[in-house]
Amino acid sequence: MSAPRTPLDVLRQTYGYESFRGLQEDVINRIMSGGNAVVFMPTGGGKSACYQIPAILRPGVGIVISPLIALMRDQVAALQQMGVRAACLNSSVQPSEANHIIHELHSGNMDLLYVAPERLAQPGFMDMLSGIKISLIAIDEAHCVAQWGHDFRPDYLRLSVFAEMFPSVPRLALTATADGPTRNEILYRLSFSNEDIFATGFDRPNIRYTVIPKDQEKRQLLNFIKNEHFAECGIVYRMSRKKVESTAEWLCKQGINALPYHAGLDAQTRESNQARFMSEDGVVMVATIAFGMGIDKPDVRYVAHLDLPKTIEAYYQETGRAGRDGLPAEAWMSVGIQDIGFLKRMIMSGNSPDDRKALELRKLNALLAYCESPGCLRQSLLSYFGEELEEPCGNCFTCINPPSIFDGTIPAQKALSNIYRTEQLFGANYLIDILLGKENKRISTQGHNSLSTYGIGKEFNSDEWLSIHRQLVSQGLVDVDMEGYGSLKLNAKSWEVLRKERTVALRKDPVLAKSKTRRARK
Ligand code: ADP
Ligand code: ZN
Repeated sequence: MSAPRTPLDVLRQTYGYESFRGLQEDVINRIMSGGNAVVFMPTGGGKSACYQIPAILRPGVGIVISPLIALMRDQVAALQQMGVRAACLNSSVQPSEANHIIHELHSGNMDLLYVAPERLAQPGFMDMLSGIKISLIAIDEAHCVAQWGHDFRPDYLRLSVFAEMFPSVPRLALTATADGPTRNEILYRLSFSNEDIFATGFDRPNIRYTVIPKDQEKRQLLNFIKNEHFAECGIVYRMSRKKVESTAEWLCKQGINALPYHAGLDAQTRESNQARFMSEDGVVMVATIAFGMGIDKPDVRYVAHLDLPKTIEAYYQETGRAGRDGLPAEAWMSVGIQDIGFLKRMIMSGNSPDDRKALELRKLNALLAYCESPGCLRQSLLSYFGEELEEPCGNCFTCINPPSIFDGTIPAQKALSNIYRTEQLFGANYLIDILLGKENKRISTQGHNSLSTYGIGKEFNSDEWLSIHRQLVSQGLVDVDMEGYGSLKLNAKSWEVLRKERTVALRKDPVLAKSKTRRARK
């Protein structure tokens, strides 16, 4: 008889990989010896193998809880192709097939069973599980158990029964989200202890982070794709279904192979678009966040955001879908002052309790601070996750184009005074027209050409003023109207600036600086 297979044998023979990555081996050893593990690894870090390999080696079937049907199907198909006995039980499985799967489970002919969390509530399901031999229980996307998280799923709360019902079966919880509160909630709700934690660094050195000010977003996107990623595979995230469709259509007209994806499309279109994205070369998927969780396409060369995500966690997870193969990839985002107002309005008009809204606003502000970071973007991103990067990375937009900082107290006073004199009723673009002394009908009808702020801002162009207004918003020195049309409003801090009690440091945006030199050279 040959010696029993080791985890490394399985990695090589079944997966075709040479060696383990990061903490994979430690986690697998822990589970093989009957322990539990909570695995915090970035997207693409290789979490699946952490439970799949022990499930293949240990007697019995590994139960995997996974929130998305599409993701389950992909994983099961991939496993079956490698010769692993795997199946899934979810609402898309026909009763006859489900019966067959359950029969195979009882006969001990299964290595891995993927289950949707809703299943656990079905009568008889837990009884069925207690009648079979279970090798391990893995809870994927474990952050879905966190009530304050952005992906909370009530069904996940039920998963705590596993610890009680199967105290001697090794359990894993896995996620790519790992801010402190979410970590604690996972440990607490799913009954893990601190010793179970396996956390790898969150840095994705091959991803270059870029945040630029919005200026004709679709054009910017097109230039980015054409100049840097032509015919390469990418994902473009948009906030709404309508924007997904208009952006995809527009890109197609410009000769880019783009497809739309959002939850409002019928199942067949979604599936066929996803299939084309996975199998064809150079497809650009324009999508809402409905697209992505569990998308395992290694050669996505860029993730572009034309609208702000809600939190840094969401941004990290979405951008993490780029460059899973370890080759250079890009996380590119175009941010506008309107996005900020829009998101704030969305948060404030929701039905959630006030403390929840406050938390969401804080999370949004953390993301804004990242966007306007005068230093290394990667350092800023990692520090949010509690990780310190000693040196600036050299591979992000601000490292490559260091923004210069200037004393912006006087321009800030001009902008704030202009807001005050126009009675806090207008958005940034109109306000800027006044500062630049533009002659147009709207201004003359309003009589704003006689204001003391009319034409006092000619030292900057409109792009620069837009950046100044955006920075004032993101530094909390001015508010965006929550209910109305995004007009700018003064707050207590604005008055400190106006009364000369506070100075304002502004980042001179390098993109704007560049366009200025170009103009100057002409
Ligand atoms: P995660 O679930 O953490 O996002 P996956 O488990 O989907 O990541 O793995 C990401 C990619 O890395 C997959 O294509 C997977 O096959 C591959 N992979 C996993 N482990 C290894 C390894 N040890 N060596 C090389 N590639 C690996
Ligand atoms: Zn950097």
